[in-house]
Parts: sequence; structure tokens; C-alpha cells
Amino acid sequence: MAQGAFFPPAYPRNNMVVTFLGTTSGGGPTDTRNCSSLVVDAVGNGQLWMVDCAEGTVRQFATQPYHDARRVRISDIKKVFITHMHADHTMGLITLLRNALGIHKGDPHEAPREERPVRAPKIEIYGPRGMRQFVRTIFSLTHTRSADQYCVHELLMPGETASASGNDIEELHPSEEPGTNIPCDADGYWREVTSHKLHGGSNHVVVDAGPIVHRDPCIGYIFREDLNLYPTLEDSEAPYKITPRMIVALGDTSDPSALAPLVAEAKGAAVSLLVHEATDAWMPPHVDRDQRTGRNRTERSVMERAVEKGHSTPAMAGHFARQIGAERLALNHIGARFPAPPHAAHTPRDKFRRDCMAELEAQATRAWAPANGARAMAVQDYDRIVVPPNAIVSTSAQDEGDDMYEDAEHGQSGSTRHGLPPKPGVPGGHGRYRGHGGHHGDSRKRENSGGQAGRREGGDSKGRHWDQKKQRRHDDGAGY
Ligand SMILES: [Zn+2]
Ligand SMILES: [Zn+2]
Repeated sequence: MAQGAFFPPAYPRNNMVVTFLGTTSGGGPTDTRNCSSLVVDAVGNGQLWMVDCAEGTVRQFATQPYHDARRVRISDIKKVFITHMHADHTMGLITLLRNALGIHKGDPHEAPREERPVRAPKIEIYGPRGMRQFVRTIFSLTHTRSADQYCVHELLMPGETASASGNDIEELHPSEEPGTNIPCDADGYWREVTSHKLHGGSNHVVVDAGPIVHRDPCIGYIFREDLNLYPTLEDSEAPYKITPRMIVALGDTSDPSALAPLVAEAKGAAVSLLVHEATDAWMPPHVDRDQRTGRNRTERSVMERAVEKGHSTPAMAGHFARQIGAERLALNHIGARFPAPPHAAHTPRDKFRRDCMAELEAQATRAWAPANGARAMAVQDYDRIVVPPNAIVSTSAQDEGDDMYEDAEHGQSGSTRHGLPPKPGVPGGHGRYRGHGGHHGDSRKRENSGGQAGRREGGDSKGRHWDQKKQRRHDDGAGY
């Protein structure tokens, strides 16, 4: 194939950004953390996809410390993915919908439900069995009527039937549009639950889902890029390639391993980020000499108790991160015995809280032991994790050193901003991987832009070296 026959493909240049709005377990909310919810900006067009929605989530939007582009808005939420029906993951949904959908003005001339056409829902909700009836019942009992419409798609486990009809006009709430019932396939998965096209073409962000072990039915979600940069070419003929990104966001779990085969199916993709719960952890005596996080606990007893309740320890999260080859690991759903430390720790109490978070991260990191030397991140409310696009790489050795596709083009993933030395001869190029584990000093990060751009060297698919920007501590001094 003649060199130069192909121009740079329209590949995604957006950062994927995850913003954590609530990070404590069901024992919360506490004075330092709200219960579970996060939003993913996966497509890069400002649309937000939410995972779980604890009570107080609307207020979490209102009290964000950011007053710039990092601020996420309720009005940008287009889809909500609920992992399971437990109250600490669902009780904010009604207020969120009321807020996002607006108040119905009560048009007296509005045609009866069965006479008006189906309207496009402003928000689509995906969740386990029970979700549809849950929203419909509370909307009815609270006399809620919204200006815009919502709909609920139920992801059904084997043998389950929907909690309520998804399309019976008589049964739908006036603010509800028909939703689908999505039975799992023969493997127990929900493949391509939904997708969003990029560049109006062949590239997508696709959502898959699968079951994970918890006390009650629970789902893990996978947000992955499905990139087909040259739709007319075979993979082996493509002059340039890019590793698609993937974000795996789990609900509560003591064993998510059933999800691993589904993760592995994503062709050529890498798990850019795993969000895994770490509800409880044992603190060794050198961190917690006075047993402030609980008396007479042992590493074993804490783990056994966590599993009994359908939860995980940081080490368990690390093991799964290792199993699926995650490049980044965020620990959330952190037990109420571990309050979030302020970003600037002044008092011994603050320092103790920080030490506990650092220990949580260390335990997960030891089990994870990622090849890229990264370190797990115990997140707190309003932490953001930025996943920049992976670099586009030439598939032919002769293009090596071509700076046409350097990271500098990608805006925020430009390495020079992060102080890495330029690679000789390549403007804006990377040095070898530099992990941040060794100079982690401060475990509290407000923003993790620790992306890594894959850059193939020497044209050998096994000889890939990962670059990683140091995790950047972003402390804007907002009030905590
Ligand atoms: Zn929970
Ligand atoms: Zn739960």
C-alpha cells in the first residue's frame, strides 16, 4: 500500500472523564462522603452517563467545588445505569429525574396519553428488574409529572420477567415512554445494551453489561470504544491503529469474575479504568495502632465479613484489576469507618484519615501489581479521573518517528505539560513509562489525569511501552 494513501482517520480525540459524586458505602452518607453515584463523559460531546444515583446526588451536583469546565451538570445527563436496587444506589433517582426533566406545566389541552405520539425520552434508565416499577410507583405516589419524558429498560437475569409492562399505554406513567425488556443472552450477558455513534459514522461507544456477585442481583457495566477507523479495510491492512478505551464500572460485589470473559471479548481494547468497590479494609497496627477503625479485627476476619455481606476488600479489587489487566484502578463505595480526609491535612486526625486511604491504596496496588507501575486510587467525592485517547500508531515500521500523529495534537494528553522529557527526535514524544507509585507522597488527588498513551515501538506488537503521565495533584483549595 502506498504510503500517504490514507489521511489521518477521524479517531476519537475526546478525553473520557469519570467524576465521582458519591463514594461511601450503604453505611453513609457521612459528613465527608455521599453514597454511590458517578458520571461518565464517555463520548466527549458533553453528554453524561450516570452510574447509580444515591440519595443526595442532586445536592452533590450543587455543591461541586469546581466553577469551570470540570463542573458536571444534571441537564447533561442522558442515560442512567443502575447496578442494583439497594437503597444506597437508587434513592436519588426520583429527585434527579424531577430536576433533569423539569416540572410539567399542566397543559389543559394535552391530548390523552393514547392519542398522542410517542415522545423521545430525555433520559433513559437501565437497571435490574424492579427499576421500572420503582420509578413508576414513586412518580405516581408523589404526584410527580415532569415536562420531559423518561423511560426504563430492565436488564433481566435468567428466568426473570419485567417488574411491570414496558409498553402498555394503560400502565405507563404519564411522564414515561415505552422501555424495553432486555433478557440476558445464553452467556448471561447483556451485549450492546446501548451505543452512541462517534463522528456520525462507524465508531461507537458501546455499553455491555454482565452479572456480578452481591447479596441481591447486581450488574457491572462496560463502556467501551468500538473503533473502526477504516471501515473498508481488513484489520491487517489498516495503516494506523489505535487501542480502544474501556471503562469498567462495577456495582457492589464480592466476586465480579463472571464479567471477565465479557471484558476480554472487546477486540484489541484495553481496560483503561476499573471502578471497583472496597467496602471494608483491615488496617495494620503500624497505621491504626489504637484500633480506631475497629477492635479485634484481623485481615482474615475483615475479608470474611466483607464477602459474607457481598462486598470486597481493596486486595480483592486489586485481584480483579489484575485479572482483567486494568490500567487504572479506582476504589469507591468505601466504608463509613474510613472518612475522606481533607486535601490539606493539618491535624493528627486528618493525617490518620490520609494514612488509612494510603493503606487502602497500597493493599489494592499490591494485589493488582500492574505492569505500568500505576497505583490504585481510593476516590472521594468530586475526584475526577481523565482517560485521554490512546495514541494512534503506525502499523508499518517505515512510519516510525512520523510525528504527524503525536500526542501534542490531542490537547490534554500532551506529555510536555506533565514534565516528561521529550523523546529524542520526536516533538512532544514520550520517554519510557514513569509510574507514580514511587513518588506518591500525597495520596489525595483531586484530579487524576494519569493517562497513558500507547505507543508502539519498533513495530512489534509485543514491544509496546506504556507512557504514563504522573498523577497530577490538583488542589484548587475549594472548601472541604
Ligand atoms: Zn452499596
Ligand atoms: Zn448493595
